[in-house]
Amino acid sequence: MVLIDDFSKLCVHTQTTKPWTIEECISNFSSVGIKGISIWRHLLEGKDLKSIKTMLDAHQMDVVSLVRGGFFPAIEVKQRDLALEDNILAIDQAAALGAPLVVLVCGADPHQSQEVSRQQIQEGITALIPYAKKNKVKLAIEPLHPMYAGDKSALVSLGQANKMCEVIASHMVGIAIDVYHLWWDIELKNEIIRCGKNNNIFAFHVCDWRVPTIDFLTDRGLMGEGCIPVRQIREWVEEAGFNGYNEVEVFSERLWGQDQKLYLEDIKKSYLNNT
Ligand code: ZN
Repeated sequence: MVLIDDFSKLCVHTQTTKPWTIEECISNFSSVGIKGISIWRHLLEGKDLKSIKTMLDAHQMDVVSLVRGGFFPAIEVKQRDLALEDNILAIDQAAALGAPLVVLVCGADPHQSQEVSRQQIQEGITALIPYAKKNKVKLAIEPLHPMYAGDKSALVSLGQANKMCEVIASHMVGIAIDVYHLWWDIELKNEIIRCGKNNNIFAFHVCDWRVPTIDFLTDRGLMGEGCIPVRQIREWVEEAGFNGYNEVEVFSERLWGQDQKLYLEDIKKSYLNNT
């Protein structure tokens, strides 16, 4: 097993340090030697993307992905059309910031079957491919944990995401593998191998699953604080051919409540020791 001994592949999601603005994320990540940043779109509201891009370049930051697009399924056609428009905007924003990838939380409408929602996800992604190609921005399906099947994602395993990518069959569409969502799956190793064979591992997200977990949205842990074999999963992903960033994506009221600069040091320690 190859241990991590530097920070060259460390990326931090802006949502991990939620109290910070986009400008604070860029300057504070950069000042402690973190080169990769995945940017959450709500931080861009009311911002001039050109000046954000200038700031990213001045700090030599690598934008790993823009988070997030998706939410394709809806009973109402009008709502599905609005979702497509929003995804077009996400691709525009990614292109403006030099992000090579938009992460898709694919969505689900609780008033229809998961199967119908999956069909609408497939149609939505397929409709976006020409625009994604034109803008050189790839799309990464992020299968979520089954506890989010009701309204956040009708894709709840790597197997389902692999299958959808195989049907869509475009080099613009792949998968974001997030340990928080997928660690429990007994087929995980096999599905990672399958995903790698298809050249579809587009991103790798890390954090940990706390036991007990007190909130299923905002009580994630830093790597090493829970029961996910993060290092083992990283090894599988790398064996399957992935050599991109390890993206730290932690939503935690507990950790957002701390001094974020000290927290960033804890992130780096946890990255070296437990990833
Ligand atoms: Zn993720």
